[in-house]
Amino acid sequence: MKTVPICLTVIYCFVIVISTGCSPSNLQDKEPSSLERREDFSWPAGTRAAISLTFDDARFSQIDRGLPILDEYGAKATFYVSLRPLEERLDAWKKAAANGHEIGNHTMTHPCSGNFPFARERALENYTLDKMRYELQESNNIIERLLGVRPVSFAYPCGQKFVGRGQDLKSYVPLVAEEFLAGRGWIDEWSNDPAFCDMAQLMGVELDGKDFEQSRKGRLSAVKQLIDRTLANGGWLVFCGHEIGEGGRQTTLSSTLKAICEYAQDPANGLWLDTVEEVASYILKQRTGTGG
Ligand SMILES: [Zn+2]
Repeated sequence: MKTVPICLTVIYCFVIVISTGCSPSNLQDKEPSSLERREDFSWPAGTRAAISLTFDDARFSQIDRGLPILDEYGAKATFYVSLRPLEERLDAWKKAAANGHEIGNHTMTHPCSGNFPFARERALENYTLDKMRYELQESNNIIERLLGVRPVSFAYPCGQKFVGRGQDLKSYVPLVAEEFLAGRGWIDEWSNDPAFCDMAQLMGVELDGKDFEQSRKGRLSAVKQLIDRTLANGGWLVFCGHEIGEGGRQTTLSSTLKAICEYAQDPANGLWLDTVEEVASYILKQRTGTGG
């Protein structure tokens, strides 16, 4: 008498395995998430580490001050754009994208914890995963319609990776893993280990306010110190900035940006400077054994 339920259970399980076995997330799972040995990973010939320069919110100074510096050195950066300022300077952003800079997703409305007064109306504590999925997909659709490029990487607004609160809180990192090649955090303290890192929550180190060689009042590590530490351990350092200029709140110093570009240009330093998309793609190819 018990054989019928058992048979049904077996059939049910078989159907579940078959039906979920071909989903996109399962296909991603088949790729090695990390390499067992760090020695199995190698950066492109002549380089020992990678850095990416990323800037958030499509602030106007990124166009007016940052892009001329980057373009002078031929350096490519990643810009996680907010939609309203993007539309206000659309032609300049089209030119930046055509010039090889990466345009990334930063949501439609920049939701953060409601503890920030500016975010109370779109507080992550009141979000659901479905609402966030809509934000991510619709932002990609709008950027594609405006610029003709579809973002493949994402930066978490305020570096926060949750929706909901308390016992109902959920991480939206798995959602970012489904929708994007890579997701970048904010105010992290270390570089990413290319053999191990989770692409959906890359560490992002603040660039704003930092000098290239001098640490300020002993509080902030100088940029060169961070880069040299990354070179020593063969990592991928992802810098994050906002405004670009001579000083002020949330501002990457023009002098620091120039110094990074110069440092990366000298082959003797063994540094690969490229966009998040390029570096992430290279790392994933290495992990799957399809890279050179
Ligand atoms: Zn932001």
